[in-house]
Amino acid sequence: MTTTQNPDTAQVGTAGRAHIERMGLFGHVIDGKVRASADGATMPVIDPSTGEQIATAAKGSAADVERAVTSARAAFDDGRWRLLPPLEKEARLRRLAQLVERDRTIFGDLDVFDSGLLRSYTVFLEDFAINATNYFAGWPSKLQGTVPPVPPGFSAQHWREPVGVVGIIVPWNGPTAVMGFVAAALAAGNSVVLKPAEDTPMSAVLMAELAVEAGIPEGVFNVVHGEGRDVGAPLVEHRDVALVSFTGSVETGRAIAAAAAKGPKPVSLELGGKSPFIVFADADLDAAAAAAAAGVWSGQGQICTAGSRVLVDRSIHDEFVAKVVAASENLSVGSPFDPATDLGPLVSAVQLERVSGYVELGRSEGASVALDGGRVGEKGFFHAPVIFTGVRNDMRIAQEEIFGPVMSIIPFDGETEAIRIANDVEYGLAAGVFTGDVGRSQRMAQALRAGTVWINTYQMGYPTVSYGGVKNSGFGRTLGEEMVHELTSIKSVWTAYPTQSPD
Ligand code: NAD
Repeated sequence: MTTTQNPDTAQVGTAGRAHIERMGLFGHVIDGKVRASADGATMPVIDPSTGEQIATAAKGSAADVERAVTSARAAFDDGRWRLLPPLEKEARLRRLAQLVERDRTIFGDLDVFDSGLLRSYTVFLEDFAINATNYFAGWPSKLQGTVPPVPPGFSAQHWREPVGVVGIIVPWNGPTAVMGFVAAALAAGNSVVLKPAEDTPMSAVLMAELAVEAGIPEGVFNVVHGEGRDVGAPLVEHRDVALVSFTGSVETGRAIAAAAAKGPKPVSLELGGKSPFIVFADADLDAAAAAAAAGVWSGQGQICTAGSRVLVDRSIHDEFVAKVVAASENLSVGSPFDPATDLGPLVSAVQLERVSGYVELGRSEGASVALDGGRVGEKGFFHAPVIFTGVRNDMRIAQEEIFGPVMSIIPFDGETEAIRIANDVEYGLAAGVFTGDVGRSQRMAQALRAGTVWINTYQMGYPTVSYGGVKNSGFGRTLGEEMVHELTSIKSVWTAYPTQSPD
């Protein structure tokens, strides 16, 4: 493991720094305007590379949620967006994608300052935001209803309609990527109130400003910042929020589902994961080792689909461990702006404590340490990769989502045992299978209880392909046709007519 030096901080993220200076306060966006909190409260935005404050955001309360939902509801009711011709909605959403492209350098810098993700990784987040917005921009003209067959004397139509105000609550690990979720809700004709994570408020403000610039009417896309209990909870409970789209932890997902049940109102829950990455002896071991390393180290392991449980055929276990350690031990940990850096900081001091706690736990549970670079640096929230071997699947490090750069390697004997271990966890978000046997790949894909199965690849995604979990990883789907459909409801319209002509 090597540590890169922080480059001269004045020389990095200049577009983002200029934007931060211009903004002063990253306020809520209500009715198309950036606003302070009703009570004037603010919260610091901490740069995870230094642990120091880099910006200030508004800290919202139920009063701000009320203002934002009222704005979104009024926009929905008067149809300023919902009733635009479908092709007009498409044109404005495409314009929004172009504006995100225009400002992608600012978005990338803000996401690094907010989350500590590598600047090279935020390029992927911007691409995702642009691609997903363009993809969903194509939907307004394609959201067709159906005409079901009914008895003579009646006609019936299924109209596909927007649901109303959609509350979107998100975590901190892909701030600009959230644009894609917002675009899906808008494409379906809804209004939106977005609650970004309290650690990463900055890029959402720019998104909402660009939406207005793109011609999406004021009030259609609102943003409220703040803590989960102060802003997220009132948003879920608000009577004028028709549907909640939540991405985050299982624990919060449970609280949101329980609160939504009081409505009741529909929720979609994209929750955590403890995804198995399964390597058979017949796989291309070099490709599998590289993918296994990337599958846990990218985003510093703070990716919901991180392949954090690596299941390895016992016959190639030692050889494979050596390859993964070789692919991981010389990674550089340091400034997320330095192109030579492989791992930036974790998002917060809380997350660093959490990761350190799990590393201690793994040792005390009896796992062997194949690699542990420990914490890195005096300031900021850096932690080098950790690889545990000899892990049993009933250990907590194999069962609980760590959300950091920690890999647990578990040996298995044969396909049946691989499936048993892979499925023996409360989560079901994703799984990876590396094998040279096509038949085995299909048997595994059928047997694995996960929302996504990757075969001989890992963490591939595209806006056309739906994404989501089973078991405690949640329900509902983001991306693809399923997401747009979940953001609409079907109205059945019956008309009676005389079957005989009067003449
Ligand atoms: P979190 O659940 O703590 O917070 C997520 C969001 O919920 C934040 O905006 C937070 O303020 C808000 N929130 C907290 N309590 C709330 C409440 N009672 N009511 C309403 N909102 C509330 O999650 P996190 O720590 O920010 O993110 C990490 C988690 O997110 C991990 O478990 C990770 O796996 C998961 N995640 C899942 C996906 C996916 O697509 N499945 C993607 C990214 C992250």
